[in-house]
Amino acid sequence: MTIAATTRLLGVIGHPIHHSLSPTMHNQAIAHLGLDWVYVAFPIAPENLAIALDGFAAIDLIGMSVTIPHKQAIMPLLAEISDQAQAVGAVNTVWRSPKGWCGTNTDVDGFMAPLQELRSDWSGTTAIVLGCGGAARAVVAGCRLLGCDRVKVVARNADKLKVFCESFQPPNPLAIALEPVLWSDLDRSLNGAELVVNTTPVGMHPHDNVSPLNPGQIAQLPDSAVVYDIIYTPRPTLLLQHAADRNLPTLDGLEMLVQQGAIALEKWSGKAAPVNIMRQALLDWFASKG
Ligand code: NAP
Repeated sequence: MTIAATTRLLGVIGHPIHHSLSPTMHNQAIAHLGLDWVYVAFPIAPENLAIALDGFAAIDLIGMSVTIPHKQAIMPLLAEISDQAQAVGAVNTVWRSPKGWCGTNTDVDGFMAPLQELRSDWSGTTAIVLGCGGAARAVVAGCRLLGCDRVKVVARNADKLKVFCESFQPPNPLAIALEPVLWSDLDRSLNGAELVVNTTPVGMHPHDNVSPLNPGQIAQLPDSAVVYDIIYTPRPTLLLQHAADRNLPTLDGLEMLVQQGAIALEKWSGKAAPVNIMRQALLDWFASKG
């Protein structure tokens, strides 16, 4: 990569941000597309968000990925927000328009992409979403857009679960009648679930030897159920190992990570994203870490 006077900037904002895999993934894609761009990680403290956006406008930054702790805080600072980002209540991708900075949430489409690859029609299915944190919001919005018939949300904290389910009632642009389930009642809810999505960090490295569902619970799922863990390290998680032991189709979080980035890059560049290059960049990174 040659950095010249013509080189334009884009990047990811967060705090902390040194752990981000986005520069690895996006710079490989940028090089492949032959763009005179560099994608960097910007550590922006919460109190500096507004001034950073003004500065980014002044230097004609192309756009940015947005991560913790700015995904909600950036919303009032944007000129336009997509329905998907409104529904999720978080923005993870920002670009410049004549009106100002605009935002959307590409996690929703990133989550859906591997499911759409697996099956063209998800209507009429029952989904179970484990967890009700930030990622669960994109997952629920995705289940709604896929046309899932019933969506059950499982959490351990009844108050948080209630607030979560209420936030998907009208006027949410992706309103859906969610069925709240306490973790202690999970066993009664597994029968008939065609899609199970883990959005909790249970099983994420370095806690590789725990799973949100045990083999007995996996055994209750229909033979065609898809088990999707949005965690991408380790690959596979213990949950996905249990599901594979039962010959259920499984998906991990790597593809969601790749696809949300690919959709963002298409937004910024107007070009088809080199998804294979982006996926390989991440696989190479994981392989280099052993
Ligand atoms: P978050 O906002 O902190 O939400 C985590 C959720 O999991 C909360 O509902 C939390 O419940 C629940 N939880 C945590 N520990 C639990 C446990 N031991 N038992 C039951 N529930 C538990 O986190 P997030 O941002 O949604 O991220 C969650 C996971 O998704 C992370 O592993 C992250 O790496 C992954 N992720 C992947 C992608 C991707 O592109 N593949 C994108 C985003 C996130 P409480 O509120 O009760 O603590």
